[in-house]
Amino acid sequence: MPLIEVADLARHYLVGDIDVPALRGVSLTIEQGEFVAIMGPSGSGKSTFMNLLGCLDVPSAGRYRLAGEDVTGLDADRLARIRNTRMGFVFQNFNLLMRASAQENVELPLLYANLPAAERHRRALDKLARVGLAGRAGHRPMQLSGGQQQRVAIARALVNEPPLILADEPTGALDTHTSEELMALFRELNDSGITIVLVTHEPDIAAWAKRVLVFRDGELVEDRRQAPRP
Ligand code: ADP
Ligand code: MG
Repeated sequence: MPLIEVADLARHYLVGDIDVPALRGVSLTIEQGEFVAIMGPSGSGKSTFMNLLGCLDVPSAGRYRLAGEDVTGLDADRLARIRNTRMGFVFQNFNLLMRASAQENVELPLLYANLPAAERHRRALDKLARVGLAGRAGHRPMQLSGGQQQRVAIARALVNEPPLILADEPTGALDTHTSEELMALFRELNDSGITIVLVTHEPDIAAWAKRVLVFRDGELVEDRRQAPRP
C-alpha cells in the first residue's frame, strides 16, 4: 500500500470573483521510504500541493489517501490528529517559538498526548541528540544559528515518530554549507526509513532526492527517478 496516493487533486482559490487554479488535477503515489524533491517555478503550485499533503488545507476536487485512509472529507479534529501523529513539518523560516527553549519547542507536538512531563522531556532530549543538538536544549532560538534552529524544527517534526516529513524550502533561508549539512541529516533520516517530501527550487538540493517531481502552472509536468548524490 502506498503511503501517499492522490488522484485528480485540485485546488482553486477564489479571489474576489476570479477563480485561480493553483493545482489542476494531480495524480501520483509515493511509497514508504521515498525521498522526493518537488521543484518548479514560483507560483507553480508546490506549496499548495504540500499544504494538501499536510492536511493543512482541503482540496477543491480529487482524492487523497494517506496510508490507505481517505483523508478527504475528514473533519477538522481528525485532520489535526493526523497532522500531529502521522507527519512532521519543516518550514523555510523554522516557525519556532522565540520565547521557548529548544527543548520546549521540540516538546510542543507532545502536549496533545497527555504524557508525564518527565517522558516529554526524555523524548525531546532524545530527538535533539539525534539532530546533533544534545548540548543546546536550554538555548532559545535567538541563541542558535539558522542551521541549528532548523535542526530544532526537525527534532520537533520527529518527536512523535511520524513515518513522513514534509519540508517546504527547508534550506531556503540558509547558506550553502549549512544547507548541505541539513540535507545530509535528511538523508540520514531517510536511510532510517522515514519518507521525505521536500520542496526546493535549487537543483543542488534536489540532487539529494531519489525522485524529482516538477510542477508548472498547477500541473505535474515531470516525474523522474534519479541516482541521489552520494
Ligand atoms: P509555489 O509554492 O510553487 O510558489 P503556490 O502553491 O504558493 O506556488 O501558489 C500557486 C498559485 O496559487 C499562485 O498563482 C498563487 O498566487 C496562488 N495562490 C496561492 N495561495 C493562494 C491564496 N491563499 N489565495 C489566492 N491565491 C493563492
Ligand atoms: Mg511555495
